[in-house]
Amino acid sequence: MSDLFINLTTPNGHSYQQPTGLFINNEFVRASSGQTITTLDPATEKEIATVEAASAEDVDTAVRAAKAAFKAPSWKKLPATERGRLLVRLSELIEEKKELFASIDAWDNGMIGKTYELAMEDDLPDTIGTFRYYGGWADKSFGQTIETSPEKFAYTLRQPFGVVGQIIPWNFPLAIFAWKVAPALAAGNTVVIKAAEQTPLSILVMATLIKKAGFPPGVVNILNGYGREAGAALTEHPLIDKVSFTGSTTTGAQIMKSAAGQLKEIVLETGGKSPLIVFNDADIDQAVKWSHAGIMSNQGQICTATSRIFVQRDIYDRFLALFKERVRTASIIGDQWSPNTFQGPQVTRAQYDRVMHYINVGKSEGATVETGGEAFAGPDGKGFFVKPTTFTNVNSSMKIYKEEIFGPVGLIIPFDEEEDAIELANDTLYGLGAAVFTMNLRRGHRVAAEIEAGTVWLNSSQDSDHRIPFGGYKTSGVGRELGQAGFDAYTQVKAVHVNMGNDL
Ligand code: ADP
Repeated sequence: MSDLFINLTTPNGHSYQQPTGLFINNEFVRASSGQTITTLDPATEKEIATVEAASAEDVDTAVRAAKAAFKAPSWKKLPATERGRLLVRLSELIEEKKELFASIDAWDNGMIGKTYELAMEDDLPDTIGTFRYYGGWADKSFGQTIETSPEKFAYTLRQPFGVVGQIIPWNFPLAIFAWKVAPALAAGNTVVIKAAEQTPLSILVMATLIKKAGFPPGVVNILNGYGREAGAALTEHPLIDKVSFTGSTTTGAQIMKSAAGQLKEIVLETGGKSPLIVFNDADIDQAVKWSHAGIMSNQGQICTATSRIFVQRDIYDRFLALFKERVRTASIIGDQWSPNTFQGPQVTRAQYDRVMHYINVGKSEGATVETGGEAFAGPDGKGFFVKPTTFTNVNSSMKIYKEEIFGPVGLIIPFDEEEDAIELANDTLYGLGAAVFTMNLRRGHRVAAEIEAGTVWLNSSQDSDHRIPFGGYKTSGVGRELGQAGFDAYTQVKAVHVNMGNDL
Protein backbone atom coordinates (compact mmCIF):
# COMPACT_ATOMS: atom_id res chain seq x y z
CA MET A 1 0.00 0.00 0.00
CA SER A 2 1.43 3.39 -0.92
CA ASP A 3 1.87 6.19 1.58
CA LEU A 4 -1.28 7.76 0.13
CA PHE A 5 -3.45 5.52 2.31
CA ILE A 6 -3.76 5.68 6.09
CA ASN A 7 -5.37 3.25 8.51
CA LEU A 8 -8.31 4.82 10.36
CA THR A 9 -10.92 3.54 12.77
CA THR A 10 -14.15 5.52 13.01
CA PRO A 11 -15.46 6.25 16.55
CA ASN A 12 -18.16 3.60 15.98
CA GLY A 13 -15.56 0.93 15.19
CA HIS A 14 -15.09 0.68 11.39
CA SER A 15 -11.41 0.11 10.55
CA TYR A 16 -10.55 0.96 6.97
CA GLN A 17 -7.91 2.36 4.67
CA GLN A 18 -8.51 6.01 3.94
CA PRO A 19 -6.97 7.21 0.67
CA THR A 20 -5.42 10.68 0.95
CA GLY A 21 -4.27 11.43 -2.61
CA LEU A 22 -5.81 13.09 -5.65
CA PHE A 23 -7.62 10.54 -7.83
CA ILE A 24 -6.55 11.04 -11.46
CA ASN A 25 -6.64 8.37 -14.17
CA ASN A 26 -7.87 5.80 -11.62
CA GLU A 27 -4.74 6.26 -9.45
CA PHE A 28 -4.08 8.19 -6.26
CA VAL A 29 -1.31 10.75 -6.69
CA ARG A 30 0.36 13.38 -4.59
CA ALA A 31 -0.47 17.09 -5.06
CA SER A 32 2.20 18.94 -7.01
CA SER A 33 2.36 21.92 -4.64
CA GLY A 34 2.50 19.95 -1.39
CA GLN A 35 -0.67 21.68 -0.16
CA THR A 36 -2.91 19.72 2.18
CA ILE A 37 -6.27 19.90 3.94
CA THR A 38 -6.70 18.72 7.53
CA THR A 39 -10.18 17.79 8.61
CA LEU A 40 -11.62 17.73 12.16
CA ASP A 41 -14.41 15.94 13.98
CA PRO A 42 -16.70 18.91 14.75
CA ALA A 43 -18.07 17.23 17.88
CA THR A 44 -14.65 16.85 19.53
CA GLU A 45 -12.50 19.28 17.49
CA LYS A 46 -9.91 16.48 17.15
CA GLU A 47 -8.04 15.99 13.87
CA ILE A 48 -9.13 13.03 11.75
CA ALA A 49 -6.82 13.09 8.73
CA THR A 50 -4.81 15.21 6.32
CA VAL A 51 -5.30 14.82 2.57
CA GLU A 52 -3.62 16.21 -0.54
CA ALA A 53 -5.03 19.48 -1.93
CA ALA A 54 -4.91 20.14 -5.67
CA SER A 55 -3.13 23.13 -7.18
CA ALA A 56 -4.10 24.67 -10.52
CA GLU A 57 -1.43 22.44 -12.10
CA ASP A 58 -3.09 19.31 -10.66
CA VAL A 59 -6.46 20.52 -11.93
CA ASP A 60 -4.92 20.83 -15.38
CA THR A 61 -3.57 17.26 -15.19
CA ALA A 62 -6.98 15.96 -14.13
CA VAL A 63 -8.84 17.87 -16.85
CA ARG A 64 -6.43 16.59 -19.52
CA ALA A 65 -6.93 13.04 -18.24
CA ALA A 66 -10.70 13.52 -18.49
CA LYS A 67 -10.37 14.93 -22.02
CA ALA A 68 -8.27 11.97 -23.15
CA ALA A 69 -10.75 9.57 -21.55
CA PHE A 70 -13.64 11.29 -23.33
CA LYS A 71 -11.98 10.64 -26.69
CA ALA A 72 -10.76 7.11 -25.89
CA PRO A 73 -12.70 4.25 -27.49
CA SER A 74 -12.97 2.52 -24.09
CA TRP A 75 -15.50 5.23 -23.11
CA LYS A 76 -16.61 6.88 -26.34
CA LYS A 77 -17.44 3.61 -28.07
CA LEU A 78 -18.81 1.88 -25.01
CA PRO A 79 -22.45 1.00 -25.72
CA ALA A 80 -24.84 3.11 -23.65
CA THR A 81 -26.27 -0.01 -22.00
CA GLU A 82 -22.77 -0.89 -20.77
CA ARG A 83 -22.34 2.63 -19.38
CA GLY A 84 -25.57 2.11 -17.48
CA ARG A 85 -24.32 -1.24 -16.14
CA LEU A 86 -21.20 0.45 -14.75
CA LEU A 87 -23.39 2.95 -12.88
CA VAL A 88 -25.58 0.18 -11.47
CA ARG A 89 -22.45 -1.77 -10.47
CA LEU A 90 -21.18 1.33 -8.66
CA SER A 91 -24.48 1.69 -6.79
CA GLU A 92 -24.13 -1.93 -5.62
CA LEU A 93 -20.56 -1.39 -4.43
CA ILE A 94 -21.65 1.71 -2.48
CA GLU A 95 -24.47 -0.28 -0.91
CA GLU A 96 -22.01 -2.95 0.28
CA LYS A 97 -20.09 -0.23 2.13
CA LYS A 98 -22.97 1.92 3.26
CA GLU A 99 -22.25 1.59 6.99
CA LEU A 100 -18.65 2.63 6.39
CA PHE A 101 -19.69 5.61 4.25
CA ALA A 102 -22.27 6.74 6.80
CA SER A 103 -19.65 6.43 9.54
CA ILE A 104 -17.03 8.45 7.66
CA ASP A 105 -19.45 11.22 6.83
CA ALA A 106 -20.89 11.26 10.35
CA TRP A 107 -17.35 11.63 11.68
CA ASP A 108 -15.92 14.07 9.19
CA ASN A 109 -19.02 16.01 8.54
CA GLY A 110 -20.56 15.50 11.69
CA MET A 111 -19.66 15.41 10.98
CA ILE A 112 -20.57 17.55 9.01
CA GLY A 113 -22.89 18.17 11.54
CA LYS A 114 -24.58 15.08 10.46
CA THR A 115 -25.61 12.21 12.61
CA TYR A 116 -24.87 8.62 11.65
CA GLU A 117 -28.58 7.87 11.60
CA LEU A 118 -29.26 10.70 9.18
CA ALA A 119 -26.44 9.56 6.91
CA MET A 120 -27.86 6.03 6.90
CA GLU A 121 -31.47 7.06 6.36
CA ASP A 122 -31.08 9.94 3.91
CA ASP A 123 -27.70 10.39 2.37
CA LEU A 124 -26.76 6.81 1.51
CA PRO A 125 -30.11 5.67 0.09
CA ASP A 126 -30.15 8.86 -1.99
CA THR A 127 -26.60 8.22 -3.24
CA ILE A 128 -27.22 4.55 -4.08
CA GLY A 129 -30.63 5.27 -5.61
CA THR A 130 -29.28 8.09 -7.79
CA PHE A 131 -26.56 5.92 -9.35
CA ARG A 132 -29.04 3.10 -9.97
CA TYR A 133 -31.62 5.50 -11.41
CA TYR A 134 -29.23 7.14 -13.88
CA GLY A 135 -27.84 3.70 -14.78
CA GLY A 136 -31.31 3.16 -16.22
CA TRP A 137 -31.27 6.45 -18.14
CA ALA A 138 -27.99 5.74 -19.97
CA ASP A 139 -29.63 3.85 -22.86
CA LYS A 140 -32.85 5.87 -22.91
CA SER A 141 -31.61 8.96 -24.65
CA PHE A 142 -33.75 9.54 -27.70
CA GLY A 143 -33.54 12.07 -30.50
CA GLN A 144 -36.33 13.08 -32.87
CA THR A 145 -36.92 12.82 -36.59
CA ILE A 146 -38.38 15.94 -38.16
CA GLU A 147 -39.98 15.93 -41.60
CA THR A 148 -39.75 19.14 -43.60
CA SER A 149 -40.46 18.30 -47.27
CA PRO A 150 -40.34 15.20 -49.49
CA GLU A 151 -36.74 16.13 -50.34
CA LYS A 152 -35.55 16.61 -46.82
CA PHE A 153 -35.83 15.45 -43.26
CA ALA A 154 -33.73 16.03 -40.17
CA TYR A 155 -32.98 14.09 -37.03
CA THR A 156 -31.55 15.10 -33.71
CA LEU A 157 -28.90 13.44 -31.59
CA ARG A 158 -28.45 14.02 -27.89
CA GLN A 159 -24.71 14.09 -27.31
CA PRO A 160 -22.52 14.58 -24.24
CA PHE A 161 -20.68 17.87 -23.77
CA GLY A 162 -17.24 16.40 -23.10
CA VAL A 163 -15.50 17.14 -19.81
CA VAL A 164 -17.73 18.39 -17.01
CA GLY A 165 -16.21 20.30 -14.06
CA GLN A 166 -18.22 19.75 -10.88
CA ILE A 167 -17.90 21.49 -7.51
CA ILE A 168 -19.78 20.27 -4.46
CA PRO A 169 -20.45 21.49 -0.91
CA TRP A 170 -20.07 19.78 2.47
CA ASN A 171 -23.64 19.35 3.70
CA PHE A 172 -24.46 16.13 1.78
CA PRO A 173 -21.07 15.07 0.42
CA LEU A 174 -22.09 11.74 -1.10
CA ALA A 175 -25.63 12.49 -2.25
CA ILE A 176 -24.59 15.65 -4.10
CA PHE A 177 -21.62 13.76 -5.59
CA ALA A 178 -24.17 11.26 -6.97
CA TRP A 179 -26.56 13.99 -8.19
CA LYS A 180 -23.77 15.42 -10.31
CA VAL A 181 -21.63 12.46 -11.38
CA ALA A 182 -24.37 9.90 -12.16
CA PRO A 183 -26.28 11.87 -14.86
CA ALA A 184 -23.07 13.26 -16.36
CA LEU A 185 -21.69 9.73 -16.85
CA ALA A 186 -25.03 8.29 -17.96
CA ALA A 187 -25.01 10.83 -20.79
CA GLY A 188 -21.43 9.87 -21.77
CA ASN A 189 -19.43 12.80 -20.39
CA THR A 190 -16.26 12.49 -18.33
CA VAL A 191 -15.86 14.30 -15.03
CA VAL A 192 -13.46 16.20 -12.80
CA ILE A 193 -15.12 16.79 -9.44
CA LYS A 194 -13.87 18.80 -6.48
CA ALA A 195 -15.15 18.12 -2.96
CA ALA A 196 -15.53 20.79 -0.29
CA GLU A 197 -12.59 21.52 2.00
CA GLN A 198 -14.69 20.66 5.07
CA THR A 199 -15.47 17.06 3.98
CA PRO A 200 -12.62 15.52 1.98
CA LEU A 201 -12.75 11.89 3.13
CA SER A 202 -15.74 9.88 1.89
CA ILE A 203 -15.28 10.97 -1.70
CA LEU A 204 -11.81 9.36 -1.78
CA VAL A 205 -13.25 6.03 -0.63
CA MET A 206 -15.81 6.50 -3.40
CA ALA A 207 -12.87 6.85 -5.81
CA THR A 208 -11.71 3.31 -4.97
CA LEU A 209 -15.16 2.04 -5.97
CA ILE A 210 -15.09 3.95 -9.28
CA LYS A 211 -12.04 1.93 -10.23
CA LYS A 212 -13.47 -1.31 -8.84
CA ALA A 213 -16.73 -0.87 -10.77
CA GLY A 214 -14.70 -0.83 -13.99
CA PHE A 215 -14.85 2.77 -15.22
CA PRO A 216 -11.93 3.35 -17.62
CA PRO A 217 -9.08 5.56 -16.31
CA GLY A 218 -9.77 9.29 -16.53
CA VAL A 219 -13.58 9.00 -16.76
CA VAL A 220 -14.02 10.17 -13.15
CA ASN A 221 -11.28 12.27 -11.54
CA ILE A 222 -11.72 13.31 -7.94
CA LEU A 223 -9.87 16.19 -6.30
CA ASN A 224 -9.80 17.78 -2.92
CA GLY A 225 -8.66 21.37 -2.93
CA TYR A 226 -9.38 24.93 -1.89
CA GLY A 227 -12.24 26.73 -3.61
CA ARG A 228 -10.37 29.86 -4.58
CA GLU A 229 -7.49 27.89 -6.10
CA ALA A 230 -8.58 24.43 -7.29
CA GLY A 231 -12.26 25.36 -7.67
CA ALA A 232 -11.50 28.50 -9.66
CA ALA A 233 -8.92 26.65 -11.82
CA LEU A 234 -11.55 24.05 -12.66
CA THR A 235 -14.24 26.53 -13.66
CA GLU A 236 -11.80 28.58 -15.75
CA HIS A 237 -10.09 25.68 -17.51
CA PRO A 238 -10.48 25.96 -21.30
CA LEU A 239 -10.99 22.20 -21.75
CA ILE A 240 -13.99 22.15 -19.39
CA ASP A 241 -17.17 22.14 -21.46
CA LYS A 242 -19.76 22.45 -18.71
CA VAL A 243 -19.65 23.50 -15.07
CA SER A 244 -21.97 22.22 -12.38
CA PHE A 245 -21.86 23.79 -8.92
CA THR A 246 -23.72 23.50 -5.63
CA GLY A 247 -22.88 26.00 -2.89
CA SER A 248 -23.43 29.59 -1.88
CA THR A 249 -25.05 32.20 -4.12
CA THR A 250 -21.95 34.41 -3.86
CA THR A 251 -19.64 31.67 -5.15
CA GLY A 252 -22.23 30.67 -7.77
CA ALA A 253 -22.18 34.23 -9.13
CA GLN A 254 -18.36 34.16 -9.33
CA ILE A 255 -18.49 30.86 -11.19
CA MET A 256 -21.03 32.25 -13.63
CA LYS A 257 -18.67 35.15 -14.33
CA SER A 258 -15.65 32.93 -14.86
CA ALA A 259 -17.65 30.63 -17.18
CA ALA A 260 -18.79 33.64 -19.22
CA GLY A 261 -15.48 34.09 -21.05
CA GLN A 262 -16.00 30.85 -22.93
CA LEU A 263 -19.81 30.85 -22.75
CA LYS A 264 -19.59 27.58 -20.86
CA GLU A 265 -22.82 25.79 -20.03
CA ILE A 266 -23.57 25.98 -16.31
CA VAL A 267 -25.82 24.41 -13.71
CA LEU A 268 -25.90 26.22 -10.36
CA GLU A 269 -27.70 25.16 -7.19
CA THR A 270 -27.27 27.95 -4.67
CA GLY A 271 -28.79 29.42 -1.51
CA GLY A 272 -32.30 29.68 -0.14
CA LYS A 273 -34.54 31.30 2.47
CA SER A 274 -37.47 29.01 1.93
CA PRO A 275 -40.98 29.71 3.25
CA LEU A 276 -43.35 27.24 4.90
CA ILE A 277 -47.00 28.32 5.10
CA VAL A 278 -49.46 26.81 7.58
CA PHE A 279 -53.14 27.55 6.87
CA ASN A 280 -55.77 27.27 9.59
CA ASP A 281 -57.26 24.16 7.94
CA ALA A 282 -53.97 22.20 8.14
CA ASP A 283 -53.36 19.07 10.18
CA ILE A 284 -51.56 21.07 12.83
CA ASP A 285 -49.65 18.18 14.42
CA GLN A 286 -48.23 17.18 11.04
CA ALA A 287 -47.47 20.81 10.21
CA VAL A 288 -45.53 21.18 13.48
CA LYS A 289 -43.49 18.00 12.92
CA TRP A 290 -42.62 18.83 9.31
CA SER A 291 -41.82 22.45 10.02
CA HIS A 292 -39.52 21.41 12.87
CA ALA A 293 -37.73 18.91 10.61
CA GLY A 294 -37.76 21.44 7.78
CA ILE A 295 -35.52 23.88 9.63
CA MET A 296 -33.78 21.85 12.33
CA SER A 297 -32.69 18.66 10.52
CA ASN A 298 -29.03 18.38 9.47
CA GLN A 299 -28.44 21.27 11.91
CA GLY A 300 -30.27 23.60 9.51
CA GLN A 301 -27.48 23.07 6.99
CA ILE A 302 -29.74 22.42 4.00
CA CYS A 303 -30.11 24.88 1.14
CA THR A 304 -33.88 24.24 0.99
CA ALA A 305 -34.37 24.51 4.78
CA THR A 306 -37.80 26.06 5.39
CA SER A 307 -36.50 28.81 7.64
CA ARG A 308 -39.40 31.30 7.40
CA ILE A 309 -42.54 29.73 8.87
CA PHE A 310 -45.76 31.68 8.23
CA VAL A 311 -48.79 30.68 10.31
CA GLN A 312 -52.37 31.90 9.90
CA ARG A 313 -53.16 34.21 12.78
CA ASP A 314 -56.07 32.28 14.33
CA ILE A 315 -53.90 29.19 14.92
CA TYR A 316 -50.64 31.07 15.55
CA ASP A 317 -50.53 30.81 19.36
CA ARG A 318 -51.39 27.12 19.31
CA PHE A 319 -48.82 26.40 16.60
CA LEU A 320 -46.09 28.31 18.44
CA ALA A 321 -46.75 26.42 21.69
CA LEU A 322 -46.67 23.06 19.87
CA PHE A 323 -43.54 24.01 17.91
CA LYS A 324 -41.69 24.94 21.13
CA GLU A 325 -42.75 21.66 22.67
CA ARG A 326 -41.51 19.82 19.58
CA VAL A 327 -38.12 21.53 19.82
CA ARG A 328 -37.94 20.63 23.52
CA THR A 329 -38.76 16.95 23.02
CA ALA A 330 -37.33 16.16 19.57
CA SER A 331 -34.23 18.32 19.10
CA ILE A 332 -31.92 16.17 21.19
CA ILE A 333 -28.37 17.52 20.85
CA GLY A 334 -25.40 15.20 21.03
CA ASP A 335 -22.58 13.53 19.17
CA GLN A 336 -23.04 11.73 15.88
CA TRP A 337 -23.14 8.22 17.27
CA SER A 338 -26.14 8.06 19.57
CA PRO A 339 -29.31 6.92 17.78
CA ASN A 340 -31.19 9.43 19.94
CA THR A 341 -29.27 12.40 18.60
CA PHE A 342 -31.35 14.59 16.33
CA GLN A 343 -28.93 17.48 16.17
CA GLY A 344 -25.14 17.23 15.94
CA PRO A 345 -22.54 19.98 15.73
CA GLN A 346 -22.31 22.55 12.93
CA VAL A 347 -19.72 21.43 10.38
CA THR A 348 -16.87 23.78 11.30
CA ARG A 349 -15.99 26.57 13.69
CA ALA A 350 -16.51 29.05 10.84
CA GLN A 351 -20.10 27.86 10.32
CA TYR A 352 -20.72 27.84 14.08
CA ASP A 353 -19.43 31.42 14.34
CA ARG A 354 -21.60 32.48 11.42
CA VAL A 355 -24.77 30.98 12.96
CA MET A 356 -24.01 32.50 16.39
CA HIS A 357 -23.41 35.85 14.71
CA TYR A 358 -26.86 35.74 13.08
CA ILE A 359 -28.47 34.76 16.39
CA ASN A 360 -26.89 37.80 18.04
CA VAL A 361 -27.95 40.02 15.14
CA GLY A 362 -31.53 38.72 15.53
CA LYS A 363 -31.51 39.64 19.21
CA SER A 364 -30.08 43.09 18.56
CA GLU A 365 -32.66 43.67 15.80
CA GLY A 366 -35.36 43.16 18.46
CA ALA A 367 -36.67 39.68 17.58
CA THR A 368 -37.92 37.53 20.49
CA VAL A 369 -36.05 34.30 21.28
CA GLU A 370 -38.62 31.53 21.84
CA THR A 371 -36.15 28.62 22.00
CA GLY A 372 -32.35 28.34 22.11
CA GLY A 373 -30.61 31.54 21.14
CA GLU A 374 -27.26 30.34 22.43
CA ALA A 375 -24.49 27.78 22.01
CA PHE A 376 -24.65 24.33 23.57
CA ALA A 377 -21.64 23.01 25.47
CA GLY A 378 -20.59 19.60 24.16
CA PRO A 379 -18.58 16.99 26.03
CA ASP A 380 -15.47 18.61 27.61
CA GLY A 381 -16.80 21.95 26.41
CA LYS A 382 -15.75 20.99 22.86
CA GLY A 383 -17.69 20.90 19.62
CA PHE A 384 -19.55 23.36 17.44
CA PHE A 385 -23.05 22.90 18.88
CA VAL A 386 -25.81 25.53 18.62
CA LYS A 387 -29.14 25.20 20.44
CA PRO A 388 -32.14 24.95 18.11
CA THR A 389 -33.30 28.54 17.93
CA THR A 390 -36.74 29.97 17.20
CA PHE A 391 -37.43 33.67 16.77
CA THR A 392 -40.77 35.51 16.74
CA ASN A 393 -41.57 39.23 16.41
CA VAL A 394 -39.59 39.26 13.20
CA ASN A 395 -40.18 41.71 10.37
CA SER A 396 -39.12 41.72 6.75
CA SER A 397 -36.48 44.43 7.19
CA MET A 398 -34.42 42.26 9.57
CA LYS A 399 -31.23 40.56 8.42
CA ILE A 400 -32.34 37.26 9.95
CA TYR A 401 -35.45 37.43 7.74
CA LYS A 402 -33.59 38.26 4.53
CA GLU A 403 -30.31 36.34 4.68
CA GLU A 404 -29.58 32.63 4.59
CA ILE A 405 -28.27 31.53 8.01
CA PHE A 406 -27.57 27.86 7.20
CA GLY A 407 -28.10 26.80 10.80
CA PRO A 408 -30.86 25.62 13.17
CA VAL A 409 -32.61 29.00 13.29
CA GLY A 410 -36.31 29.28 12.39
CA LEU A 411 -38.59 32.32 12.29
CA ILE A 412 -42.32 32.07 13.03
CA ILE A 413 -44.47 34.87 11.62
CA PRO A 414 -48.28 35.34 11.56
CA PHE A 415 -50.34 36.16 8.45
CA ASP A 416 -54.02 36.91 7.85
CA GLU A 417 -55.20 36.01 4.33
CA GLU A 418 -54.03 33.66 1.57
CA GLU A 419 -52.75 36.52 -0.57
CA ASP A 420 -50.72 37.87 2.37
CA ALA A 421 -49.07 34.46 2.77
CA ILE A 422 -48.14 34.34 -0.91
CA GLU A 423 -46.72 37.85 -0.79
CA LEU A 424 -44.64 37.08 2.29
CA ALA A 425 -43.43 33.77 0.84
CA ASN A 426 -42.25 35.49 -2.34
CA ASP A 427 -40.70 38.43 -0.48
CA THR A 428 -37.16 37.09 -0.92
CA LEU A 429 -34.37 37.13 -3.47
CA TYR A 430 -34.28 33.35 -3.26
CA GLY A 431 -36.56 30.71 -4.75
CA LEU A 432 -35.37 27.21 -3.97
CA GLY A 433 -38.05 25.45 -1.90
CA ALA A 434 -41.42 26.19 -0.28
CA ALA A 435 -43.92 24.19 1.76
CA VAL A 436 -47.68 24.65 2.10
CA PHE A 437 -49.83 23.01 4.77
CA THR A 438 -53.55 22.86 4.08
CA MET A 439 -56.25 20.20 3.78
CA ASN A 440 -57.98 22.27 1.09
CA LEU A 441 -57.02 20.68 -2.23
CA ARG A 442 -57.86 23.72 -4.32
CA ARG A 443 -56.00 26.10 -2.08
CA GLY A 444 -52.94 23.84 -2.00
CA HIS A 445 -52.56 23.72 -5.78
CA ARG A 446 -53.49 27.40 -6.19
CA VAL A 447 -50.80 28.52 -3.75
CA ALA A 448 -48.23 26.07 -5.17
CA ALA A 449 -48.67 27.68 -8.58
CA GLU A 450 -48.16 31.19 -7.15
CA ILE A 451 -45.00 30.56 -5.17
CA GLU A 452 -41.74 31.54 -6.85
CA ALA A 453 -39.67 28.44 -6.10
CA GLY A 454 -38.27 25.46 -7.98
CA THR A 455 -39.79 23.00 -5.50
CA VAL A 456 -43.08 23.23 -3.58
CA TRP A 457 -44.01 20.59 -1.02
CA LEU A 458 -47.70 20.21 -0.24
CA ASN A 459 -47.99 18.96 3.35
CA SER A 460 -44.30 18.05 3.78
CA SER A 461 -40.86 19.66 3.68
CA GLN A 462 -37.41 18.59 2.41
CA ASP A 463 -38.42 15.24 0.94
CA SER A 464 -36.06 15.27 -2.02
CA ASP A 465 -36.20 12.47 -4.58
CA HIS A 466 -33.75 11.70 -7.38
CA ARG A 467 -36.64 11.00 -9.79
CA ILE A 468 -37.96 14.56 -9.43
CA PRO A 469 -36.27 17.66 -10.92
CA PHE A 470 -34.65 20.03 -8.46
CA GLY A 471 -33.38 23.58 -8.84
CA GLY A 472 -33.95 27.21 -8.06
CA TYR A 473 -35.92 30.24 -9.20
CA LYS A 474 -34.38 33.73 -8.81
CA THR A 475 -30.95 33.74 -7.09
CA SER A 476 -31.30 30.11 -6.00
CA GLY A 477 -29.84 28.74 -9.19
CA VAL A 478 -29.67 28.15 -12.90
CA GLY A 479 -30.81 24.92 -14.56
CA ARG A 480 -32.12 21.71 -13.01
CA GLU A 481 -30.67 18.53 -11.57
CA LEU A 482 -32.27 15.11 -10.98
CA GLY A 483 -35.05 13.38 -12.87
CA GLN A 484 -35.11 13.52 -16.67
CA ALA A 485 -34.23 17.22 -16.53
CA GLY A 486 -31.00 16.27 -14.77
CA PHE A 487 -30.09 13.80 -17.49
CA ASP A 488 -30.98 16.18 -20.33
CA ALA A 489 -28.82 18.86 -18.69
CA TYR A 490 -25.73 16.79 -19.50
CA THR A 491 -26.58 16.41 -23.19
CA GLN A 492 -26.55 18.84 -26.08
CA VAL A 493 -28.80 18.54 -29.10
CA LYS A 494 -27.32 18.19 -32.58
CA ALA A 495 -29.57 18.56 -35.64
CA VAL A 496 -28.60 16.56 -38.74
CA HIS A 497 -30.20 17.83 -41.97
CA VAL A 498 -30.58 15.07 -44.60
CA ASN A 499 -30.91 16.12 -48.22
CA MET A 500 -33.00 13.48 -50.02
CA GLY A 501 -32.73 14.90 -53.54
CA ASN A 502 -32.99 18.68 -53.44
CA ASP A 503 -30.13 18.95 -55.95
CA LEU A 504 -28.71 22.30 -57.06
P1 ADP B 1 -19.97 27.42 1.74
O1 ADP B 1 -20.04 28.85 2.16
O2 ADP B 1 -21.17 26.64 2.07
O3 ADP B 1 -18.70 26.70 2.10
P2 ADP B 1 -19.07 27.83 -0.96
O4 ADP B 1 -19.93 28.27 -2.09
O5 ADP B 1 -17.99 28.75 -0.51
O6 ADP B 1 -20.08 27.45 0.18
O7 ADP B 1 -18.40 26.43 -1.28
C1 ADP B 1 -19.00 25.41 -2.03
C2 ADP B 1 -17.94 24.78 -2.92
O8 ADP B 1 -17.44 25.78 -3.79
C3 ADP B 1 -16.72 24.22 -2.18
O9 ADP B 1 -16.31 23.03 -2.84
C4 ADP B 1 -15.69 25.32 -2.35
O10 ADP B 1 -14.37 24.84 -2.30
C5 ADP B 1 -16.01 25.82 -3.74
N1 ADP B 1 -15.57 27.20 -4.02
C6 ADP B 1 -15.43 28.22 -3.15
N2 ADP B 1 -15.00 29.34 -3.80
C7 ADP B 1 -14.86 29.01 -5.12
C8 ADP B 1 -14.46 29.71 -6.30
N3 ADP B 1 -14.13 31.00 -6.26
N4 ADP B 1 -14.46 29.06 -7.48
C9 ADP B 1 -14.84 27.77 -7.53
N5 ADP B 1 -15.21 27.04 -6.46
C10 ADP B 1 -15.23 27.64 -5.26
